[in-house]
Amino acid sequence: MPPEQAVSPPPLPIPISRPWIGPEEKAAVIEVLESGMLAQGPRVAAFEDAFTKLTGARHAIATSSGTTGLHLALMAHGIGPGDEVITSPFTFIASVNTILFTGATPVFADIDEGTFNIDPKAIEAAITPRTRALMPVHLYGQPCDMDEIIALARKHDLAVIEDAAQAVGATYRGRQAGSFGTGVFSLYATKNVMSGEGGMITTDDDHIADQCRLLRNHGMRTRYQYETLGYNFRLTDVLAAIGIAQLGRMPEATMRRRANARFLNVELESVATPAVKEGREHVWHQYTVRVPEGMDRDDAVKRLDAAGIGTGIFYPMGANHFPHVKEVVGEVPTPVTDRVAASVISLPVHPLLEQPDLERIVAAVNAL
Ligand SMILES: *Cc1c(COP(=O)(O)O)cnc(C)c1O
Repeated sequence: MPPEQAVSPPPLPIPISRPWIGPEEKAAVIEVLESGMLAQGPRVAAFEDAFTKLTGARHAIATSSGTTGLHLALMAHGIGPGDEVITSPFTFIASVNTILFTGATPVFADIDEGTFNIDPKAIEAAITPRTRALMPVHLYGQPCDMDEIIALARKHDLAVIEDAAQAVGATYRGRQAGSFGTGVFSLYATKNVMSGEGGMITTDDDHIADQCRLLRNHGMRTRYQYETLGYNFRLTDVLAAIGIAQLGRMPEATMRRRANARFLNVELESVATPAVKEGREHVWHQYTVRVPEGMDRDDAVKRLDAAGIGTGIFYPMGANHFPHVKEVVGEVPTPVTDRVAASVISLPVHPLLEQPDLERIVAAVNAL
């Protein structure tokens, strides 16, 4: 049979995300293993240094995950029982769980339907005498309305803890996400810069940085002298070495994500493509569309899956609706989040997509 008549196998499914790992990451890991120093050490320090350079923050503190980073940041700001922290209901559960872990109460301000980010007007309406901090979440890699959020924080004397887990390298009016208040990044395997697991806190505040370092390591400054109740939230040198190599790859990876998003924005017709507000450089951790009214979202996901297109639903439900959260906050109406959560689909946008992959995604989505 001539080759052009051979039945070609069906194309491989396109995953929603794929880590970009090259010889740099592999060599860096081997080097650490051969050094015999595996715990928090010189690579963690170098990785922290690289994050201060990236964000412009004075301090960076590496942690075992984004979740433990958020937890430490809240603790360092002295957030605890009786305090309220205002955050977005449309987020990964860790934003909310870390507030709960401190004993504080999460207060939900609904989102802006265009950007999926917390709405500053809803924040203002949610401020009470107990409010101590604002936790905006730069969802999918697009910075929140930071001018309005910082103005509210100043007016009401509130801390700002940015959940920048998805937004490494994103900017708002030229300034890096995570550098407006205390920033927290995630280095989880699917994030734009990853180390498998890990987190990074950034801050200009010497006291906050000191508290984060202290609480990260058993409340211990001098060996076996415990100043306070602390945790083991440290990162390892093996993971820091991967993260450093990933940071080196970030400019190219972000460029590719942006080019992929531009292509999808132009070509997709059957769904509402994501909006980017002026003054922001989105880093496209997720490329998230909304299905039109009358289209069944879950059915659309099934059809895309059958066409070999990986998708994700980030997130299927507002954090306020889960039983362990409701137990604390009761029924909180978040109509915008509820509408959005029922209609979003995230499509592959990762830097390893090739042009034929993008064309397959467009063809499958436009056929919905
Ligand atoms: C990933 C993520 C976290 C948690 O980070 P981990 O490193 O997985 O602990 C927190 N908030 C948001 C918005 C995230 O996407």
